[in-house]
Parts: sequence; structure tokens; C-alpha cells
Amino acid sequence: MNTSDLQTVLSERFAAVKGRIAEACRRAGRTPDGVTLVAVTKTVSPAVAALVPPLGVRALGESRPQELWRKAEAVAGADWHLIGHLQRNKIDRTVPLVSLVHSVDSARVLDALNAFGQKRGAPVAVLLEVNCSGEESKGGFSPAEVPALGDTLAGLGGVDVRGLMTMAAYSDDPASARPTFARLRELRDQLRARTGLALNELSMGMSNDFEIGVEEGATLVRVGTTLFEGLGEDR
Ligand SMILES: *Cc1c(COP(=O)(O)O)cnc(C)c1O
Repeated sequence: MNTSDLQTVLSERFAAVKGRIAEACRRAGRTPDGVTLVAVTKTVSPAVAALVPPLGVRALGESRPQELWRKAEAVAGADWHLIGHLQRNKIDRTVPLVSLVHSVDSARVLDALNAFGQKRGAPVAVLLEVNCSGEESKGGFSPAEVPALGDTLAGLGGVDVRGLMTMAAYSDDPASARPTFARLRELRDQLRARTGLALNELSMGMSNDFEIGVEEGATLVRVGTTLFEGLGEDR
């Protein structure tokens, strides 16, 4: 595909996804400005990712730090989100490039980010990843661990904990994600009551289930396949 065809395909797909987000907002009595679409570019090249910000979608997500570094160099005007595991030895290089780390999946990573934020004198914006679906293949804090984190969070000057993130189990029926997302929202509400932190962000919903995420209160949806399917071979 040439650049102009790619731009056309991408702008149609972004319009379709934004339309579906708006419809889900309408069903839930929410306004679409309360939901940020994070375009997950992990399957496409830097050249394809670079076409996204000019279409008006600035939030781009990558799950691997090294791939994020590579794309951050090549893509202008993006606001990067890390959505996958952050190894502690990659914090120094990754954090300065991103506006939000969605995937703080252990107390060790949280402590390391806190130390980094304190050292540089500016807190790192993060979400805590919670394994609400209970699948062993997924990382994150267990729901049972979350309430007790409340006492820890208050004392962390080096991180700005903005909310929670989860991934639902894949299913042919998107509605089966609903209990997982409702659970994340309830955990957020409990943690908010316990800490007094705003915890406004809920990152939940991917290609298969982002509308359910929005209906359950997502402020960030992470969509890859629906936007970029078939474009991974381009450039
Ligand atoms: C890849 C990925 C996504 C996007 O998933 P799609 O099903 O392709 O939309 C969202 N979140 C995380 C954490 C991912 O790794």
C-alpha cells in the first residue's frame, strides 16, 4: 500500500473505532471526551505508526520497552504509553519517553519507579496492573493484594498513581469481560476510599472488548488489532 492508501485505511478505521466508543458512551450515559483511545502500534512498523498522530490520535501504546524506544525516535507528535512489563533495568531509558506506565505489575517495579521518580525530582505517572481474570499467564497484582497496597501508596513520593489497569480473558463473547472490568472499578473505588487518591484512570478494553470497557467506566482503551490488522507487512 502506498502512504496515501494507508492514510485512508487508517483514518477510516480510527473513525469507526471512535464511533463505537461514542456509541458505548451514549449507552452508558458518559461523554466521549472521558475516554482516551490508545492506539497500540506493536504489530506495525515505525513508518506506519508515524501516520497516526497526524490523524489526531496522539496516544500510542507499546508493550515492549525496546520497541517503544525504536518507535519513539521515528514518530513525531506521539504521547507514548507503556502497556507491557517494564524490566527494572529499562526504567531509566523508558520513563523519560512515556506519559503513562499502565503496567506496574509488582511491588518491586513500583518501588523501582518510586526510587527513579524521587531521584529525578518528578513523580512517574503510573497505573497498577491487576490480574482480575485470575489467569496464570497474566501478570499483575492479585485483586486480594490491592486493598493492602493502600497503606504503601500514600508514602510514595516518586510515583503518581493515577488508577488501575486490567486485561480480560479472551473470549468469543465480549460481554464475558464485563465482570472483570466491573471488578477493577470496584477495586479502584475501595482503594480510593482507603487512600484519598483520585485514581481517576481505568485502563480496560482491547479490540475484542473495548465497548464493554467503556460501558464499565474505562477512561483509557488500548486498541491494536482492530486498527492495524493486515498493516504489519507494510513498510
Ligand atoms: C497488544 C495489547 C493490546 C491490544 O490488543 P488488541 O487485541 O490487538 O487490540 C492491549 N493491551 C495490552 C496490554 C497489549 O499487550
